[in-house]
Amino acid sequence: MAVDHNAFITEETIEGDAEGGDADGPLAGTAVAVKDNISTEGIRTTCGSEMLADYVPPYSATVVDRLLDAGATIVGKTNMDEFGMGTTTETSAFGPTKNPVDPERVPGGSSGGSAAAVAAGEADVALGSDTGGSVRCPAAFCGVVGIKPTYGLVSRYGLIAYANSLEQIGPIAGTVEEAAAALDAIAGPDPRDGTTRDPSEVEGADPDASYAAAADGDVDGLTIGIPTELFEGADERVVETVEAAIADLEDQGAETAEISLPSVEHAVQAYYVIAMAEASSNLARFDGVRYGNRAESDGNWNESFAETREEGFGAEVKRRILLGTYALSAGYHDEYYEKAQDARAWVRRDFEEAFADVDVIASPTMPVLPFELGESLDDPLRMYLADANTTPANLANLPAISVPAGEADGLPVGLQLVGPKFDEETVIRAASAVEDAS
Ligand code: GLN
Repeated sequence: MAVDHNAFITEETIEGDAEGGDADGPLAGTAVAVKDNISTEGIRTTCGSEMLADYVPPYSATVVDRLLDAGATIVGKTNMDEFGMGTTTETSAFGPTKNPVDPERVPGGSSGGSAAAVAAGEADVALGSDTGGSVRCPAAFCGVVGIKPTYGLVSRYGLIAYANSLEQIGPIAGTVEEAAAALDAIAGPDPRDGTTRDPSEVEGADPDASYAAAADGDVDGLTIGIPTELFEGADERVVETVEAAIADLEDQGAETAEISLPSVEHAVQAYYVIAMAEASSNLARFDGVRYGNRAESDGNWNESFAETREEGFGAEVKRRILLGTYALSAGYHDEYYEKAQDARAWVRRDFEEAFADVDVIASPTMPVLPFELGESLDDPLRMYLADANTTPANLANLPAISVPAGEADGLPVGLQLVGPKFDEETVIRAASAVEDAS
């Protein structure tokens, strides 16, 4: 009997648009799973939280409308770390998702249900959201492909926010080309999200760019930067697998150049201060009045607010609201939040300088192999540090992809490629060459 990986919170089919949409659209016949923090009209959207266990949005996210317009069939809402806060999908109020490659291990997070659904063949494509790695990490752990687009390429309208300044919705699929085709469907400006941009208006951009067409495997003459900082401290088995994949790219005509990104040593710390600060503010709306299941309470508003949040949120979410509120509070704001913003600017500058010399930057996606279920739950700091290689791209708003590089001890290893702003084509092209080699 097939193993139930608990990839879905809600299984429900929304057929690709009959009216107004295109039955022969580019995604016709494609089964798409959608992370449960992306709003679907009439279908509950829980964010993996008890707080929103009964929340049914009255409208759909722009990305959902675009998938349906392209002819895709939505097959359900996938499991996730509560409000996107985690790296293993174990903080979900709906139980952990199992990694289809090894059901004793986590699928990564926070979009673990999305990656597991694709890896298990329960969906062709899935959408995740990536605030600090949540598309790339589960893609790496489950042996599939995940793309985090440039900030502003994909509309966040209808995405229930965790940390707005960092996150983008991105596709997960079995191949680079399929993920890129899904990106073609969801990308582009949205009048409902003022942070979106038209990539064809960005200097040097190709107005007719097709991401799927960029998956042509041609890396001849491409220069790949190898940042020493993102290999140091990683599991040796991961490093060996990633280095072998990079050597394959050299055989295909790519050049490599060692580079240094000194600021990335501070990226995780800066990321967690900023993400928690934004989260503490975003999650204030879940008070049982505006949003969220209200606790039975005969107290006053303050008591009802406290009881609602005590009952509705899990431990990781509470920890982050407390830390985020602390980092923003008078007297500590300069010491934490401002410093984190300075570090963010430094990370951005480091990447800009690196891209003067190289076309893409390669590293392990995750410095570790997939954790065993339960292994990291008692040690939040260890879990946070696992995001060392993914968070820099969010801080710098850059496009990044995770593509399977091979296996170590029978477990998938992901190779990450980061590119300049709005140059998803180059990361897609390079990633498709990694596939050709493996
Ligand atoms: N693991 C990171 C965090 O917990 C990233 C999560 C995400 O990208 N949503 O914040």
